[in-house]
Amino acid sequence: MVIQYKCPDCGADMVFNSKTGKLYCDSCGHSEVIEDYEAQDFKPFEQHFHTTTFEGDEASQYQCNNCGAILLTDKDTTATTCSFCGSPVVLGDRLSGVLAPSKVIPFTISKKEAEAAFKKWCHHGLFMPRGFKQADRIKSLTGMYVPFWLYDVQGHGEAFAHCTRIHTHDEGDTIVTKTSHFNVYRKVDTRYSNIPADASEKMPDTLMDQLEPFDYGNMKKFNTPYLAGFISEKYNYTDKEMFSRIQKRVSDYMRDYISGSIVGYSSVNIVNCDCQIAQRSAEYVLFPVWMVYYDYDNSEYTFAMNGQTGKIAGSPPLSKSKITVSVVTITIVLFIICRIITILMGGTVL
Ligand SMILES: [Zn+2]
Ligand SMILES: [Zn+2]
Repeated sequence: MVIQYKCPDCGADMVFNSKTGKLYCDSCGHSEVIEDYEAQDFKPFEQHFHTTTFEGDEASQYQCNNCGAILLTDKDTTATTCSFCGSPVVLGDRLSGVLAPSKVIPFTISKKEAEAAFKKWCHHGLFMPRGFKQADRIKSLTGMYVPFWLYDVQGHGEAFAHCTRIHTHDEGDTIVTKTSHFNVYRKVDTRYSNIPADASEKMPDTLMDQLEPFDYGNMKKFNTPYLAGFISEKYNYTDKEMFSRIQKRVSDYMRDYISGSIVGYSSVNIVNCDCQIAQRSAEYVLFPVWMVYYDYDNSEYTFAMNGQTGKIAGSPPLSKSKITVSVVTITIVLFIICRIITILMGGTVL
């Protein structure tokens, strides 16, 4: 099922506007509120409905309602633009049933703002090569809704620690050290909400993790017009398949919490810590990401920007000469400081 948004006033394509959070017509300025917007009788939570797709092995074919061209899409694509007429297209059948997202964080950063923010970030890069800092080789900047699972989990943890408390006091000329030993036990029951894990095969996990935090306060009930004008993909991994990542992450949180609760000792050695983490629920959500592909020195660099906060993740190239100059400068400065201290010390001794 192909969903496209036509302006009721002039018939042009409407796209999501990151400033207003509404569907917007560039031609005449008409806008539509997205909450509770119903398009072409599309009900994302209905399991079965008629679609206009043609069956294929991997990628299905869709037809653009605007120009009639066949849209060739990747099997994971849920929103794209028609490569013939440029009309934004949302693929409804890939957003329904078990593939229906429950929530979405809409883009608040426009393409123009994303480009400006990326260039500014490059300009301020301390050790980036000069050619890279000019930021004039952006190959593409793509607004993409990335599928995530948002987990609500319950954790039960038990820990045993060996702790010491050391006291010293003087007895005549002797310093007496007294060490008391304690066996410390902690049992905690915790609950964590909204722990995200990206469910896309293509997106590097570390890059996506670095984009956190997202502001869940602005998360909206999912509706297809939010995707108009962007690329969107469906999840490749189910919440169950991704859960081991969450268990690892929550275990770390719990260990930190437990060790943070053992205070007032001279030393703390956690001998055994066992955390059981169970999934209470997981929501399928879409988060906004600007993907920046950048050409430099015959290599392609990939950066990701949080489409809600503007936070940038990725590893830029580093200038060896700049690093060398900095190291040499720091060494010289340290050498001079040492010399001054030596001279001053020498002065007081004399
Ligand atoms: Zn219009
Ligand atoms: Zn078209």
